[in-house]
Amino acid sequence: MKSRLTLSGISIEVTRKRIKNLYLRVYPSEGRVALNCPWHTSPGKVRKFAEERLPWIKKHLQNGAVRKGKQEPAYVTGEKHPVWGEMRELKIIRSKKPQSVFLNGAGVIVMLVKNGATAARRKKLMQEWHRAQLKQEIPKLIKKWEPVMNVSVNEFGVKKMKTRWGTCNIRDRRIWLNLELAKKDPGCLEFIVVHEMAHLLEKHHSPRFYRLMDKFLPDWREREWLLNGGV
Ligand SMILES: [Zn+2]
Repeated sequence: MKSRLTLSGISIEVTRKRIKNLYLRVYPSEGRVALNCPWHTSPGKVRKFAEERLPWIKKHLQNGAVRKGKQEPAYVTGEKHPVWGEMRELKIIRSKKPQSVFLNGAGVIVMLVKNGATAARRKKLMQEWHRAQLKQEIPKLIKKWEPVMNVSVNEFGVKKMKTRWGTCNIRDRRIWLNLELAKKDPGCLEFIVVHEMAHLLEKHHSPRFYRLMDKFLPDWREREWLLNGGV
């Protein structure tokens, strides 16, 4: 037997069944909340049960909304985009000047685009900007760490990578960094640069590798956590 209960705008599907206890379940991806209860539970008891768990319900529904929001951004004015670990507002300006992207004094990402620039084109511009940001920061980090670690890097590059934050070609002493790092806290980029440079001293993720990481960057675990915990 099904009925509905609405609490602070949230519709809860109540199903009476042959069970002993009350159960509540949130399906974040569908935005659905279901409450199962024994046949003869009073409406007051059902309501109280749901009310007490309202903060929990809201939290779980929100998590679903956040995940849904991870869909492809539209690259339009007002949208928030991550840069160096901070969410920044985007402002699109139609302009006859050459297309460019920059942070203005108020911390807004300003994107100058030609009339008719598609969302795909704006996405490309954002990625080129991210790449430029990384290409500016990476050499500084390599220069900082080369004398400390007593290694030398021949070359570095930035590219889109699906499963890794960085790679190191030991023979050519070349490191590759993931384009997505421009969205993360700068400390995360440094962690990956040091990690890849440490491979020039130790090929494998062996105990020795982690001893080197602990020596050079004692807080690398925090940085790794930050890197994998969203922006
Ligand atoms: Zn590694």
